[in-house]
Amino acid sequence: MISDGPTMQYRSKENFFCLSSVPFELGFKKVTWNFLEAGHGKGAADGVGAALKRRADVFASRTDIPDGRMFFEKLIEEKSKIKLFYITEGEIEENDRSIPDQLETVCGTMEIHQISTTKSGHINWRILSCFCSAPDYCLCFAPESVVLNKAQKKKTTMKTESCQGMLNTTPEITMSLVGEWCVVCYDGEAYPGVVQDIDEESVQVKTMCIIGVNRFFGL
Ligand SMILES: [Zn+2]
Repeated sequence: MISDGPTMQYRSKENFFCLSSVPFELGFKKVTWNFLEAGHGKGAADGVGAALKRRADVFASRTDIPDGRMFFEKLIEEKSKIKLFYITEGEIEENDRSIPDQLETVCGTMEIHQISTTKSGHINWRILSCFCSAPDYCLCFAPESVVLNKAQKKKTTMKTESCQGMLNTTPEITMSLVGEWCVVCYDGEAYPGVVQDIDEESVQVKTMCIIGVNRFFGL
């Protein structure tokens, strides 16, 4: 998605939550929302809004348009080329009810220009958009990750998500792995570590400690 972004309207945690949940319900695997500064030519998207506003002015000069439904019906009658959807108040309320009350606040909201997510309820955000490694996620401009739904909140590390494509599983455990980096999943968390020793049944790994989002310490 690409939109304007100077207002809080789009940068609320509720909106971030919708972005990180609804598309997955619809079958999307990756989502990104990019906020452009005001007046930086969005072309078509801006044009659509402006065209509809002009139609509203034309209708209003001829007749009363008391509500959105009437405006929508008038536009449908006109066979507008713009694909239009009418969203009822009930649908909006229903959507509001699906948003958890306890959402994590996203610090630095006003600086955000890109939000990306590959996991429901989780977002990565950064101050500038980057697509240098598309379709994979890059780590340019120091992205931060946030788990929005406090109820399901677990500390997550962005490394586990963003580097997915670079992790290989080993077909067999051999002594050649000693000294190699690996990731250990323990209690729902991912810890980077170095293989210390191997025996027939087990692998000894020295891992780093998590000291914050996407931050590790030790070794
Ligand atoms: Zn990049």
